[in-house]
Parts: sequence; structure tokens; C-alpha cells
Amino acid sequence: MRIKTKLTLGVGLLFLLILLLAVVSTLFINALSNDTQNILVANYNTLDYSRDMLLALDEPRENRSEAFARFAENLEKQQANLTEVGEKEITDALATHFTALRSNPADTAQYQAIRADLYEIMNLNMHAIVRKNEVAKQTAETATFWIAIVGTLCFLIAFTLLINLPGSIASPIRELTERIRQIAAKNYQQRVNFEQHNEFGDLARAFNTMAEKLEEYAGSNLAELLTEKKRIETLIAQMNDPVIGLDADKKILFVNAEALKVLGMRAKDVIGMPAPEVAINNDLMRALMRGLTPSAGMPDTGAEKGPLKIFANGKESYFDKEILEITDTPTGEQSLRRLGHVILLRNITPFKELDAAKTNFIATISHELKTPISSIKMSLQLLDSQRTGVLNAEQKQLAESIHDDADRLLKITGELLDLAQSETGNIQLNLLPSEPQSMLRFALDTVRTQAEQKQIHLEIHADDPLPLVKADPEKTAWVLVNFLTNAIRYSPEHSTVVIELRREDQQVLFAVRDTGKGIDTRYRDRIFDRYFQVPGSPKTGTGLGLAISKEFIEAQGGSIGMESEFGMGSRFYFRLGV
Ligand code: ADP
Repeated sequence: MRIKTKLTLGVGLLFLLILLLAVVSTLFINALSNDTQNILVANYNTLDYSRDMLLALDEPRENRSEAFARFAENLEKQQANLTEVGEKEITDALATHFTALRSNPADTAQYQAIRADLYEIMNLNMHAIVRKNEVAKQTAETATFWIAIVGTLCFLIAFTLLINLPGSIASPIRELTERIRQIAAKNYQQRVNFEQHNEFGDLARAFNTMAEKLEEYAGSNLAELLTEKKRIETLIAQMNDPVIGLDADKKILFVNAEALKVLGMRAKDVIGMPAPEVAINNDLMRALMRGLTPSAGMPDTGAEKGPLKIFANGKESYFDKEILEITDTPTGEQSLRRLGHVILLRNITPFKELDAAKTNFIATISHELKTPISSIKMSLQLLDSQRTGVLNAEQKQLAESIHDDADRLLKITGELLDLAQSETGNIQLNLLPSEPQSMLRFALDTVRTQAEQKQIHLEIHADDPLPLVKADPEKTAWVLVNFLTNAIRYSPEHSTVVIELRREDQQVLFAVRDTGKGIDTRYRDRIFDRYFQVPGSPKTGTGLGLAISKEFIEAQGGSIGMESEFGMGSRFYFRLGV
């Protein structure tokens, strides 16, 4: 039974019984009062009147008239108080006898008759009193009986409630409180077993469901986390590339077998150690740490832009270093929390080897091609001279076209050789304080004819004076020629190409701006890549010019870049230090 129903029933029943007790008691008290009242009014008064009438009869003769008056008065009262069966008849006889006595006071026989009547009346009423007393007694007994019954019932119910109710409410609450405490202490196996079909039963079922879910959640979470951790550890261990994990304090958290191999250390000497401490005795670790945030005490000098050269797998190997910062935003917070870093080393040795083979191949081919092309050009010059005979117009045209092609071939092989040289790090730089103006002059002389052919105006905006820059004049002029050739090639006829020479702090800026078709944003990132040509551009070039320019400028410690607005023109520039 539900607690609410139980309480309502118990208290309600108790209330009803108390009401019943009150009603029964009132009724019986009323009945008793009626009974006594009855005796008093009906019989006691009659006895009183009868006694007064007897006393009046006994009065001496001289008081007779007054005595008769008292008798008549009491007789009248008696006549109005006829309550018992047969009382009326006797009272009527008494009245008759009294009337007879009044008319003849000397008739003593009447006295006898009147006395007899009065005794009979008194007798009748006394019997009635006895009988009525019995009735009153009976009423009192019945009242006692019923009041006792209802009282006992009240007591039993109240007692049952007193014994059961507090316990039946308090015990489950106590048990539940204890279980909740256990749950709070992460003891999720706790269950409550109230089999009742009441509110506590519902509460117990809800509690058990909650505990079950908590247990499942805690269990699954831990198991899942452990599995996930194992999986990631296995993944990292199986990786062919070295991986090193650091926490926010630069302590080494994990190192995979590949990383240990390249570091030349054992796991126990590395894991859990602060990376800067390991770096003291390990060159590679020192190199790796250089890329971390400056807060590591080792600011990123940018000295190691290229791949790392490490002796691994029994040979000189190249690794590309990538440092990933691990951050996280804690639940409910706004700011980022730095958790540490993961250092990834990608083994690029096979690519390097392939690249080197390709470069060597290109270098050899271009070198080998140079001689035959030069001899072709020489032969053409001989053909051109009158000594070998006069060429007709058609032959002359053919010879010119061969000459152009040979020039192109020579240019291409030259560029390829330059590229091969720069790739193998064999650029022979001849760095000397050079005059920007003279380098520009040289470049302008080279492209002047080309510009004139397209009637392009070359405009120079140069700061005056300009400092000397530390540069290889030949290579720098080559880059300028490349910029100018491109500008002229991609500009419409009769347009203007602007050349700027500006002083900037400790650098000099060289820029070439044209009003050509510009370069689509999609291709801007790749414009300095080798062999890259914007789709749709004339196939006359090799896509190497800008790549070689970049190599040349960066080898001189300068920087190169471009800006362009598609359809409006481009601006290629580089900066060299003074
Ligand atoms: P290429 O020998 O083909 O000219 P470059 O490396 O000099 O090789 O140039 C690469 C590509 O960049 C070219 O194919 C061309 O599409 C684009 N490019 C270079 N300069 C300009 C310019 N001034 N305006 C428009 N496109 C240019």
C-alpha cells in the first residue's frame, strides 16, 4: 500500500473512530439523562404529591378546609402527571373518593378509600422507579460497552500506527541515505531492495537504475579509456617515423622505438626526463628542441629550416621535423590550455635520394647537351658567313629558326644546370658589395630589345642615393632579368613596366611591376615551385625561372615574394641586405 494511502487511511480511521466515540458517548449520556429525568418527572413527583396528599389527610380537624385545599392542589398536579399504565384509573378513583369526602367530611370510609388509592399510586410509581432504574442501568452498561469497544478500536489503530508508521517511513529513508553516501564514495555496486509497492518502492527502483547506470558508465569509461590509450600507444610504437611527446613542462612523456633509434638512447634514460636536460648531452634532441616555443629557453632561431640530417639506419638520413602544439579548451572554460608538444620526424631520405638522382641526371644531361648545342650555334654562324656559300632566302629563314631554337635550348639547359647546382647546394656565390643601380642597368640592357619589340615602356623609380648591397651581381641581375622578361612577356603591348629600387632599413627592395593579366589566387602559392607554369600560359618557358630566382635570392640571405591582382597585373620583388 502506498504511504500516502496508508497515512490517509490510518489517520482517517482514527478520526472517524474518535468522531464515533464522541457521538456514541453523547447519545448514551443523553439517553441516561433522559432515563433519570423520566424517573424524576414521572414518578418522583407523583410520590411527592401522594405524600403531601397523605399529610393533608392526617391534618387535625380544625385545619380541614386548608388541608382539603392542599389535597385538591396536589391531586390536580397528580392528574397532570399520569405516566404509568393504570395510574389514570386509580387517580380518577382517588378524585371520586376525594370529592365524596369533601362533600361529607364525616364519612371516614372515604379516608380509607383515599389512603388505599394513594398507596396504590405510590406503589405503582415505586415499581416504575425500580423498573426505570433497571433501564437506566441497562443504558449505562450498553454505553460502557460501546464506548469501550470504540475506545479499544481507537487504541488499537493508534497503537498500530505508532508502532508501524514511524518505522515504515524512517527505515527506508535511513537505508537510502546510507546507500547514497556509498554512491558518493564511488561505490557503485550499491542497490536497495524495497519490494514494497509504494513510494519507497518507486524510489528504490529509481535509485537502482541510477546506480546501475553509474556503474556501467564508470566501468565503460575506464575500460574505454584504457583501450583507447593502448591503441594509441600501439599506433605510436608501430609508426615508422620517430615520435616524441612532451608535456607542458617539456617533460618527455613518450618516445617510440624509431625515435629512440635516431636519438641513440634507451627508453629508461629518456621517458619522464625533462627534454632540456636530455638535450644537454644529445645533439639531436637539442636540434629538436630548437623548434619549441621560446619559453623553452631555446628560442627558435630559424637556423634549421631545411630537413634534419641524422645518421640513422646505417646511413645519412634526412628527416622533416614537425612540432605540433597540443592544446585543449577545458569544459565550460573559454581560454586554451597548453598540454604540451608532439615532435614528429618524417623520414624523407628516399625522396631525397630520388631527388638527388634526378638532379644529377638533369645536371649531367644539361652539361652534356651544352657542347652539342654550342657547336650547332657555331655551325650556324659558319653557315651565316659568306665563306661557306650564300644561303638563299628560304635557307636563311631555316637557319634563323634553328638559331632561335638553339638559343632556347641553350637557355633551358643553362637554367636546368643552375637549378641542379642550387639543389645540390653547389651555387658558387660571389658575394660582394654591389651597386643596385648597376645590376639593374645590366638587366635592363639585356631585356631592352624585348621591350622595344612590344613597345613597352620601362619606368624606373629609384631612391637616390642607394646603399651597396651584399650580393652576387651576376645572380642578382639574372633574377632581375627573369622578373623583367616575365613582366614584358605577360604585359600587353604599349604598356608600362615599373621598376622600383627602394631603401628599407638594412635592406634594399628590388621590384618589377607590370599591368599584365596577373596571377589567379589559386596559383600564387605555387608560383615559385619548380616546373610550375600557370595553366594556359605560353609553353615557351620551363617554369624554372622563378624557382631559380628564389634559390639565388635565398642563397644570398635575401627574401623573395610577389603580389598580384588577377587581371590587373603583378609585382615581383626581392630584398637584399646592405
Ligand atoms: P617560365 O619560364 O615559364 O616563365 P617562371 O618560373 O618564370 O617560368 O614563371 C612561372 C609561371 O609564372 C609562368 O608560367 C607564368 O604563368 C607565371 N608568371 C610569371 N611572371 C608573371 C607575370 N609577370 N605575370 C603573369 N604571370 C607570370
